[in-house]
Amino acid sequence: MADVKLTHVKKIYSNNVEVLSDINLDIKQGEFIVFVGPSGCGKSTLLRMISGLEEISAGTLEIDGEVVNDTPPALRGIAMVFQSYALYPHMTVYDNMAFSLQIAKVKKADIDQQVRKAADMLQLTPYLDRLPKALSGGQRQRVAIGRAIVRRPKVFLFDEPLSNLDAALRVATRMEIANLKDSMPDSTMIYVTHDQVEAMTLADRIVLLSGGNIEQVGSPLELYEHP
Ligand code: ADP
Ligand code: ADP
Repeated sequence: MADVKLTHVKKIYSNNVEVLSDINLDIKQGEFIVFVGPSGCGKSTLLRMISGLEEISAGTLEIDGEVVNDTPPALRGIAMVFQSYALYPHMTVYDNMAFSLQIAKVKKADIDQQVRKAADMLQLTPYLDRLPKALSGGQRQRVAIGRAIVRRPKVFLFDEPLSNLDAALRVATRMEIANLKDSMPDSTMIYVTHDQVEAMTLADRIVLLSGGNIEQVGSPLELYEHP
C-alpha cells in the first residue's frame, strides 16, 4: 500500500559496467507495474534495488514519500517472490508461511489467522501439512506468494515468478496472481518478466527497459495494440 518513486536512478556494478543509466518512474499505490525488456537489460537489478538487496549507485528511491536508499531491506515494507521458490525444504507449507511472523514474534493466534487466510486465498488449505517436495511447481510458487502475503507488505515484488513452471502451470499460476491483484487492490505490485502475455494480462502499466533506460511506458493497450 505505497507509492514508489524512482528519480534519476542509476546502477553501476563494481566492474564499472553501467547497467541502468537514468530511471525515472512514479508508481502509484495499488498499481500493478510490469517491467519488460530483453535478457540482461537490468530488470532484475532494478527490482533488487527496490527491495534493498542491491545498492543504488545514484538517484533516489522513495516509498511513500520517504527516501529509502539506505533503509535495510527488512524495514522497507516489501516482500519479494523469486523465480526459484526458495522454500525451506524441511518445513511444512504452514511453517514456511508462518516462519517470518514467528521470527518477528507475532502472536500465535494472529499467525494462524494470517496463514490460513493466505492459504485460503491461494487454494493451499489442503496442503498445509505437506513438505515442499510433495507439491507441484505451481503449488510451491503459491507457497512462496503466501509467504509474501502474510508479511502484509506495502509493496510486492515478483522476479519472473512463472519462469520455472511448465506451460499449463504457468497459465494457472498467472491466474492466481491476477486474482491476488483483485483481492488486494491497495497493494502495489511490481513484476518483472520477459513474457509479453504475462505483461499484457497482469499489468496496469508496462515499462519497457532498453539500453539502461526506460524506452516506453503505457497500458497494455497503448503498448501492444497501438505501439
Ligand atoms: P535482466 O533481469 O533484465 O535479465 P539483470 O538485472 O539480471 O538483467 O542484469 C543486467 C546486467 O547486469 C547484465 O549484463 C548482467 O550481466 C549484469 N550484472 C548483474 N548482476 C551483476 C553483478 N553482481 N555484477 C556485475 N554485473 C552484473
Ligand atoms: P524480517 O522478519 O526481519 O523481515 P526475515 O528473516 O523475514 O526477517 O528476512 C530476512 C531478510 O530477508 C530481510 O532482509 C528481508 O527483507 C528479506 N526477506 C525475507 N523474505 C523475503 C521476501 N519474501 N521478499 C523479500 N525479502 C525477503
